[in-house]
Amino acid sequence: MSADGSSTAARPAPNSADAVDGQAAPAAATPAASPRRRGRPRIDLRRLGLAALLGSTSRGRLPDAIGHVADAHRAHHPEADLEPLRRAYLLAESSHRGQMRKSGEPYITHPLAVTLILAELGAETTTLTASLLHDTVEDTEVTLDQVREEFGAEVCFIVDGVTKLEKVDYGAAAEPETFRKMLVATGNDVRVMSIKLADRLHNMRTLGVMRPEKQARIAKVTRDVLIPLAERLGVQALKSELEDLVFAILHPEEYARTRTLIAENAAAGDPLGEFAEEFRTVLREADIAAEVHIRPRHFVSVHRSRIKRGELRGADFGRLLVLVNEDADCYGVLGELHTCFTPVISEFKDFIATPKFNLYQSLHTAVTRRDGEVAEVLIRTHQMHKVAEAGVVALGNPYDAGSDEDGADGERVDPTRPGWLSRLLDWQRSAPDADTFWSSLREELAQDREITVYRTDGGTLSLPAGASCVDAAYAQYGEEAHACIGARVNGRLVTLSTVLRDGDTVHVLLAPPETGSGPDAEWLDHARTPAARIAIGRWLSSHPEGPVVAAAAPRPQLTVESMRPAAANAVVDEHPNAPVRMAGCCTPVPPDAVTGFTVRGGAVTVHRVECPAVARMSAAGRAPVAVHWTQLDDGAEYRVTLIAESFGRPHLLADLTEAISLEGAAIISATVEPPVEGRVRHSYTLQLPDAALLPALMRAMRKVPGVYDVGRGKESAAAAQ
Ligand code: MN
Repeated sequence: MSADGSSTAARPAPNSADAVDGQAAPAAATPAASPRRRGRPRIDLRRLGLAALLGSTSRGRLPDAIGHVADAHRAHHPEADLEPLRRAYLLAESSHRGQMRKSGEPYITHPLAVTLILAELGAETTTLTASLLHDTVEDTEVTLDQVREEFGAEVCFIVDGVTKLEKVDYGAAAEPETFRKMLVATGNDVRVMSIKLADRLHNMRTLGVMRPEKQARIAKVTRDVLIPLAERLGVQALKSELEDLVFAILHPEEYARTRTLIAENAAAGDPLGEFAEEFRTVLREADIAAEVHIRPRHFVSVHRSRIKRGELRGADFGRLLVLVNEDADCYGVLGELHTCFTPVISEFKDFIATPKFNLYQSLHTAVTRRDGEVAEVLIRTHQMHKVAEAGVVALGNPYDAGSDEDGADGERVDPTRPGWLSRLLDWQRSAPDADTFWSSLREELAQDREITVYRTDGGTLSLPAGASCVDAAYAQYGEEAHACIGARVNGRLVTLSTVLRDGDTVHVLLAPPETGSGPDAEWLDHARTPAARIAIGRWLSSHPEGPVVAAAAPRPQLTVESMRPAAANAVVDEHPNAPVRMAGCCTPVPPDAVTGFTVRGGAVTVHRVECPAVARMSAAGRAPVAVHWTQLDDGAEYRVTLIAESFGRPHLLADLTEAISLEGAAIISATVEPPVEGRVRHSYTLQLPDAALLPALMRAMRKVPGVYDVGRGKESAAAAQ
C-alpha cells in the first residue's frame, strides 16, 4: 500500500507492483469490503474505536481518535484551525456514546471514518466539522439549534441537509416526492452531497454485516443514484471504490473472475512498469519535470475493458499517469511521447482545452511500443489531478472567493452549483409532478457522458451524449426555444432531430415571435434532456390546439423571410427589385449577418458575412452590396403560395430560392418539411410585382433538378392581395 495513512488521491503511490498487490489483496471479512484500491489507505476501525472508547487521551490538544483526520486535513490545509474539529468530535463522541454499529463497533467510528475520507480528499474545515456531526441530530439528543449555537449557521445547514438525505435512503428509498424535496434541500450546497457520498462509501465498505437482501437493495440505490452523483460531482476517487463495492455485491461471480484476472496478471510481468521507465527517460532527456505513475484500473474498469476488448494484455490492467507542474507542460509531454512512441490517434482527447462537465481536465492518449503493447496515458498538472480525484470536494470553501489558490478557476461554474445541478433544480421547479421529475432525474444521472458543443456566439453548451438540436435549443434559449425552426450544425442547415457530436458548432434558428411558431409533439422523440422534454411537454399540454400557424400551413421547419438589398449601392437603388439569390455555399437564413455581391447584370448574391467566399471576393476587389433581412410590407403586389414537391438532395433549397429570385419574386416565407421516404415538400409564400409572372415562375421552379411538381397552395387565394 502507499506509504502512510495520510497518502491522498493527489499523491498516488509510485509503484505498480504495490498497487496491484493492493488491488488483489486478500478479501477482508466480507465481499463488500474486499475491493481495496491503492492510494486509499484505510484506517483500522478497531483502533479508532478503541481510541474513542479510551476517551480523549491528549495528542497535543486533540483526542487521539481524530489524529488521523487532523493529519489528513493539515496535509491539504496547513493553516487550518483544528479547534472546531476537536469540539465537533467531543460533542459527537459524547452524544453517540453507548450506541453501537451493527458490526459491534462504537458508533463514533462511523462519523470518524466518513470525515477521514473527506479530509483525505482535501475538504475544508466546515465540511469536516459538519461531517463529524452528521448523524448527531438524527440519532442523538443533539438538536439543530444546538449545532447552530455551537458551530454556526453554515455547519448547521449542512448537518440539516445530510440528516434529511439520510431519511431518504433508509426510508422509502428514492420515493419520488421525498427525493425531490431532498434534492432541493441539498441543492443549495454540494458539500451536503459530498458528506452523503463519503457516508455511503463507509456504509458500503461495512455492508457485510447486513442481510443479503438489504445489501442488494442498498447496492442498487448506490448504483442508480450515488455513483452517478459522484461522477457528476467529479469525485472519481469515491466513484471508483463505490463501483467496485456495488460490483462485488450485485455480481459476485463476475467480481471473482475479475479478481482472478488481476491476480494472474500481477504475476505475469510488468509492461506498464517498463513503459513508465521509458517515459521517465524520454521526459528527462527532454528536460521536462514530470512524475510518471502507474494507475491500476479498478475492478469494474478491468471488467468493462475485458468485455470491450475480449482479451486483456498486460498493459490493459492500468494506465500511466504523467503529472506536471504547468498546463503548457502537458502538451510538451504529449509531444515527446507522440514523437518517441507511435500514438494511437483515435485515443487522443484534449480535456484541457475543453474540460468535461464535472471540471475534469486531462490529456488522454495511447501509445504503442515496438512489440505492439499499447499503454493508455493520462497527462495532467498536479492541480488538475486533485480536481480529477476529488472533484468539488477539492475546490475549497465555495463561499470564500479567495480560497482558490491558483485563481485558475475564475471562469468555471460555481462549485456549489455545478452546471447540471443548477439545471436540475430549475427543472424540478418546472416539472409538473414528482414522477416526471424523478424519471427525468434518473435518466439524467444515467447518462455516463456529456458532450460540449459550441455556440456561434462563442459560448458552449454541455449536453448529454445523444442530444439533438432540440436539446441544444432549449439549453441555450430556455422557453424561447419553443420558436425554434431549424439549426445549422458546423455551418450546414440540418433538421432539429440531428444528433450532435462532441465539438460541433450549433447555431439555433428561431422564428420571429409574431409567427406563433411552437413545438411539435415529434420534438419529444428528439429531446434527450429533461429540460427540453419538460418544457416541450408543458407547452404541448397548454396548447392542445397546437401552434397558431398550424391550422393553415404545414409546421414550419425553416422559415426564410423575404429579403431585399438595402439602398447602399447605385446599382441596387436603380433596381429596387433586383433579383436576390442566396449563395449555395453558405445558405444564409435569418438572422445571419449577410452581405451581397452583384452578379449577372444586377442580381445580388447574398452570403453570410463569415462565408470564405466573401473574403475571397473582397480580396479580389469586388465591392460588397449592403443587404439585410426585411419583412415586406403588405402592398399592392401579388402574393401567392407555391408548393414544390421534389426528391431530397443537397442544395435543393438554395437552388429553388435562386430560381425564384431570378424570376423577380421575393420570398415572404419558406417552409421545408422533413423528408418522407426521400421526398420533400417546400412551401413558398412569394410576392410578385405582377400576377402575370406566375406561369413563368412555376416553370422555372419545375426546371430545378429534383423537382417533379409545383402547384398552388391551399391558402394562396387568401394570401393574394
Ligand atoms: Mn452516516
